[in-house]
Amino acid sequence: MCGRQGEVGRAGIPKQETNAKQKADVKSNKGFGKNRKMSDIIEKLKTTQNAEDDEILRLLNTDEFDEELRIAADETKKSVYGDKVFIRGLIEFTNYCKNNCYYCGIRGGNTNADRYRLSKEEILECCAEGYKLGYRTFVLQGGEDLTYSDDDICDIVQSIKSLYPDAAVTLSIGEKEKESYRRYKEAGADRYLLRHETASEEHYQKLHPSELSLEKRKECLWNLKELGYQVGAGFMVGSPYQEPEHILADLRFLQELRPDMIGIGPFIPHKDTPFADFPAGDYKLTLRILSVIRLMFPYVLLPATTALGTISPNGREEGLRHGANVVMPNLSPVRFREKYSLYDNKICTGEEAAECKACLEMRVKKAGYRIVTDRGDVRR
Ligand code: SF4
Repeated sequence: MCGRQGEVGRAGIPKQETNAKQKADVKSNKGFGKNRKMSDIIEKLKTTQNAEDDEILRLLNTDEFDEELRIAADETKKSVYGDKVFIRGLIEFTNYCKNNCYYCGIRGGNTNADRYRLSKEEILECCAEGYKLGYRTFVLQGGEDLTYSDDDICDIVQSIKSLYPDAAVTLSIGEKEKESYRRYKEAGADRYLLRHETASEEHYQKLHPSELSLEKRKECLWNLKELGYQVGAGFMVGSPYQEPEHILADLRFLQELRPDMIGIGPFIPHKDTPFADFPAGDYKLTLRILSVIRLMFPYVLLPATTALGTISPNGREEGLRHGANVVMPNLSPVRFREKYSLYDNKICTGEEAAECKACLEMRVKKAGYRIVTDRGDVRR
């Protein structure tokens, strides 16, 4: 997609050893040992939104403090957004893509992909259905499909905005020239999702063919910011060859960029890609990173992703409990859903829009939160 996708991968994170006494010290908040310091790190993240590199790495490398971290993240989220969870209506309008990212099921080189495109009318039908259901944000997502010219994208955006002026339009259609981004913005686009995928140059090269570069990716993100979009970046957890230091680099890049939205999901392999045999990203690590991100970016819009719900049946509920505050039910026509196959076993491919929303409403409620139907803009 061209916001790009969303135990550990091969570069797993070893679990830190913790003895019973240390655990007891943490629970009773006594002692000044190593683990007491870990509690201090969580507190420091919560109060200053920052910590030293080695402190963040220590936090990422252990699951011993996950609950403490989760509670801190939940408190932080509630202090900014209360119990509100925002919904975005996702319209996957094309699975054509000119690129060949090694992890992606709809990469141009996958000859097994069954390709489709939605016409403007079909996109507007999805919006009409979504608007009736209460959606006030539409996310138009697709591969980098050059069949849609800038004029086409502007026309689609303008039409949505004139029909539904109280709704936000988010684009997630990949890397474009600054001039194209400017035109989409002038046509009414409010937000743009473009995951950076990894902030490490050497890791980026391992996930993408040589014609794609991290430098260009970052330039696009900075251009989008400069043009006044609400910008979303993000990365996969457990992507092939990922090391803890790469995750740290991702967090540092996000601190520099200060995006409005951060999309984090586990890597899930797709059978028709060069990464077919790599293991999926670690579920618990993904939740831990969601919590760390909430502490470092209290204001951010953070989705509990479909990928998280794919690797664990309650993944999205747990994502919300660990700091996420956005869900993105699918508004694409059911007949195309399975074709937008970024990774294997993707969930939510069979339900109609209304069922999808009802299911997520139930899940959000079960997690202890409440879906709201306003635009859900960022609160800085
Ligand atoms: S191959 Fe295309 S759709 Fe897939 S992640 Fe790369 S740019 Fe996005």
